[in-house]
Amino acid sequence: MTVGSTVKTYQAYIGGRWIDAAEGGTRESIDPYRQETWAVVPECKAADAQLAVTAARSAFEGPWGDTDGRERGRLMRRFAELIRRDADHLASVESRDNGKLYREMRGQLQAIPDYYDYFAGAADKLFGTVIPSGKDDYMAYTLREPVGVVGAIGVWNSPLLVTTFKLAPALAAGCTMVLKPAEQTPASALEFARLFEEAGFPPGVFNVVPGDGPTTGAAVVANPGVDKVAFTGSTATGIEVARNAASHLARVTLELGGKSPNIVFEDAKFESAVNGVVAGVFAATGQTCIAGSRVLVERSIHDEFVEVLAERAKRIKLGDPQDPATEMGPIAFAEQAEKVLSYVGYAREDGARIAAGGRRSDLGGLFVEPTVVADVTNDMRVAREEIFGPVVSVIPFDDEQAAIDIANDSPFGLAAGVWTQNVARAHRVASKLRSGIVWVNSYRVASYAVPFGGMKMSGYGRENSLEALNEYLETKAVYVRTGEDERDPFTMG
Ligand code: NDP
Repeated sequence: MTVGSTVKTYQAYIGGRWIDAAEGGTRESIDPYRQETWAVVPECKAADAQLAVTAARSAFEGPWGDTDGRERGRLMRRFAELIRRDADHLASVESRDNGKLYREMRGQLQAIPDYYDYFAGAADKLFGTVIPSGKDDYMAYTLREPVGVVGAIGVWNSPLLVTTFKLAPALAAGCTMVLKPAEQTPASALEFARLFEEAGFPPGVFNVVPGDGPTTGAAVVANPGVDKVAFTGSTATGIEVARNAASHLARVTLELGGKSPNIVFEDAKFESAVNGVVAGVFAATGQTCIAGSRVLVERSIHDEFVEVLAERAKRIKLGDPQDPATEMGPIAFAEQAEKVLSYVGYAREDGARIAAGGRRSDLGGLFVEPTVVADVTNDMRVAREEIFGPVVSVIPFDDEQAAIDIANDSPFGLAAGVWTQNVARAHRVASKLRSGIVWVNSYRVASYAVPFGGMKMSGYGRENSLEALNEYLETKAVYVRTGEDERDPFTMG
């Protein structure tokens, strides 16, 4: 691996201080397009994780715990403004760190500040209810209190957005956070921390400890000072994280993998459906948890659909992620590129047909061609396992019930798409799909105001929307005795 001419150096952000890892280790962050080291970050270990959890706990029990909702909201709005100010820079950092299109990142960075504004508006509106207790002489009410210290584990495919899904509701609720970003893409979280500091949050409210999962991530999750773990990543790691968090009964939310069906009925607008399938699986180089990687097409239009989709896939423009004309960038790192290509091999072995792509691109490096796999049945590996790359499996179906059955025949349940002009069918199918998100005549849309999360092996808990706040709040019940007479101490009140 070559080293770029201007390599950026970062430090960890712990307790409001910029520091090197205690053991002094560092890790190189690779620009996947140029395939060169572009940044160096500290390689934090368990001791650094401990320091960060201690700092987050002190902030929670100290200045941040004393900060009222109105002030939390004010700081969050200031943070949002700083993100808007530095949007170009943040987009460029993320694009270099993981090869995401600058064009997509510009869009994300217009949206991300809105998440902080939205949750800032909720920060001073967190209140319980007065409850008719059903007991004479007792008044009861609830208080909604922050869960405490959040251990957040990030992923490499959309680091700033995934961090925001966790950080915005956590701050509004009054929690503090220790974030362990993915080892491949640590830089943008540290850029975020710089803005966080500038916004004027007290030290220790947000801490960033770059490092690897099994060491640093596991140390955060297993730390008894962490009250809640917010995890995004693969299902296998999610299970391990939930197990480790259970050792001290930390609350857990898991945003995991998917194998989402994108269902095209014969009455769909054909061109829109093709476009939606492209958006579902080739945008972000297919490296999204919500990738519509199983396309179910009604048999009467199946052959034509495969042909048009394959032609469209072949025209996708691969290239420099920073070039606004580029439609698909490289795979984020070498092992992932190998994994994606291995699934093309499995598809061939299982008897499927490669209708487009299936190879490394002539551009070389980490570019993989947009790949359409036809003649797929739902039992093939290419239809069952998450690939996390630009590979789509097309499966024919005969009627509405068959489409629903195939769609639900998956261990995952994150997202789904339904393409039809029949309104009754759209609602009927949406209600029968076992997935946390359903898009009708669209795909890959997210909003701060709408819940996001999965069912089955895609995880549990919800991010975004006011529902997400519940993941960061505890409910406390308070009973107030209003009667004057002495009660019998040996009976339950
Ligand atoms: P991994 O599960 O391998 O990694 C996710 C994060 O977990 C990384 O920060 C990783 O650290 C960390 N980690 C690894 N082991 C442990 C451990 N024992 N304890 C604590 N943390 C640990 O995910 P992938 O890299 O494979 O990422 C892709 C996956 O993420 C896909 O399955 C995708 O669907 C899912 N994803 C889900 C989303 C959702 O919202 N549902 C959104 C985006 C992606 P490190 O990598 O630094 O070693």
